[in-house]
Amino acid sequence: MSKQQEPITALYCRLSQEDAREGESNSIANQKAILAKYAKDNGFTRTEFFVDDGFSGTVFDRPGFLAMMDGVKSGTIKTIIVKDHSRLGRNRLVIGTLLEEDFERYGVRYIAIMDNIDSEQGLSDLIPMADLFNEWHAKNTSQKVRSVKHAQGNAGIPLSGVPPFGYLKDPQDKRKWLLDETAAKVVRRVFALCMDGKGPSQIARLLESEKVQTPVEYLRSIGVKTPKKPPRVPFQWEPSTVAAMLERQEYLGCVVNFRTRRKSFKIKKQLRLDPSEWKVFENHHEPIIAKSAWERVQEIRQNKRRSPKSGKTSLFSGLLECADCHSKLYFSKKTEDANNDFFVCSRYRGGRGECTAHYIRDIVLYNLVPEHLRGTLRYVKKYEKYFVQAVNQKSTQEQAKSIAEKKRRCERNKKRIAELDVLFQRIYEDFVAARLSDERFGKLSEAYEAEQSALKAETVQLETELAEEKQSAANTERFLELVRSYTEIDDLTPTILNEFIQKIVIHAPDRSSGTRKQKVEIYYNCVGVLDVSQEDAWIEAIAECRRNQKPKEQKTA
Ligand SMILES: [Zn+2]
Repeated sequence: MSKQQEPITALYCRLSQEDAREGESNSIANQKAILAKYAKDNGFTRTEFFVDDGFSGTVFDRPGFLAMMDGVKSGTIKTIIVKDHSRLGRNRLVIGTLLEEDFERYGVRYIAIMDNIDSEQGLSDLIPMADLFNEWHAKNTSQKVRSVKHAQGNAGIPLSGVPPFGYLKDPQDKRKWLLDETAAKVVRRVFALCMDGKGPSQIARLLESEKVQTPVEYLRSIGVKTPKKPPRVPFQWEPSTVAAMLERQEYLGCVVNFRTRRKSFKIKKQLRLDPSEWKVFENHHEPIIAKSAWERVQEIRQNKRRSPKSGKTSLFSGLLECADCHSKLYFSKKTEDANNDFFVCSRYRGGRGECTAHYIRDIVLYNLVPEHLRGTLRYVKKYEKYFVQAVNQKSTQEQAKSIAEKKRRCERNKKRIAELDVLFQRIYEDFVAARLSDERFGKLSEAYEAEQSALKAETVQLETELAEEKQSAANTERFLELVRSYTEIDDLTPTILNEFIQKIVIHAPDRSSGTRKQKVEIYYNCVGVLDVSQEDAWIEAIAECRRNQKPKEQKTA
């Protein structure tokens, strides 16, 4: 026969990290003292403490709370006492169910000392209200923490824990990053290999064969703590590590904040944000990679140039685009003779696809592209001023209109965002003063919030676009710098091609004149298609190139 045991009185304490910061009054020791005194004064015996230290009231998988609920369900706990109602939790839906259903069902008496709540005296209608405010408090605290982070993030202070490989935290000031030359060399190497046409797997294999330490191995070897584990096989680089490195804007000297966001104060999961929502701050630390090189690598990565199954590849693979369907052209090798290698539109599919062939031989491009490049180089060097004018004129006319329109929309959005803040404040006041029902308040606040966040997202997008439009002058300058960095182009290498050329658009052949004519448009990086082919100066530059090509550079008289 089991002896009927006297039930347990649970004394429940909870302290969150934010509570701890706010001082002693909520400390576990203080809560325990209050609970013990109350229990003694009111004749509760067989008390037992259940404690959750460092747990937010918004989550309910706290060990102490769960242990207490086990006791409730098994019937050993018949009374629960807390210092104040919010100790139990800060989610009014969960708390509501607990009080109105669970505690009732298991016959548990619930006492919140400071709030004067005792379920034996009947649950006051005020409790749901108190719960609502407790939840608001949690939201506010989480918003406070978030707004501090937000302010730091907006001020360009890096929010990430460990700087990217190539940098180390400044021991004097953890907000600063110092260039770590040993690691930076590896980063530069990886970018150079990519420019040379190598993909992440090829780069990873190369580094492994050369026994280059992986970022984690390196950081551990110099005593930097990192949560990541080193590879099981030493020097085993992952292609994904290489790929991620190639995309890091931080190597330009920027800080990138707000790549991720927590979904809500109740959910810990991180959401990846769209790059348009990232905040980028320039000149935070010394760059490892030059801007032009970094941008080339992004282009190359987007094209993801892959070699065909035959293993043979062309310099132009991935660069060619169909003028009609805008797909890539595929490289094809049917015979041993390289003169017969050709490209066709990837949607042609041997005549069964949706597009025509757009056939062009590789050798044609080998002759044409370097010539155009040399001509352009010479032309730009000689007629720099005229060239800049032509490029800028082309872009300013197109841009002036869209800039004005975007600015107008930006301003309108900002005004409405401020209005919504006022509206929200007003309904909140009405709600507190009970002039607005819970339901109505919920609906209105949701609608306001949705409108506001949509406007905010659009405004960020517009501002990014506006910033990019201003870039075009800088782009022309970047192109000029590139041109100046070359005296003459002898051989066409992947690096040269990648540095200068964005894409080459291949048109379908025109046979109307009786002979096969095919238009080929070369889009240069930063400045786009250079439509100067009709100008005498350009034709002259090309001719000059041809004259000077094969024998060594001659001085023109
Ligand atoms: Zn096509």
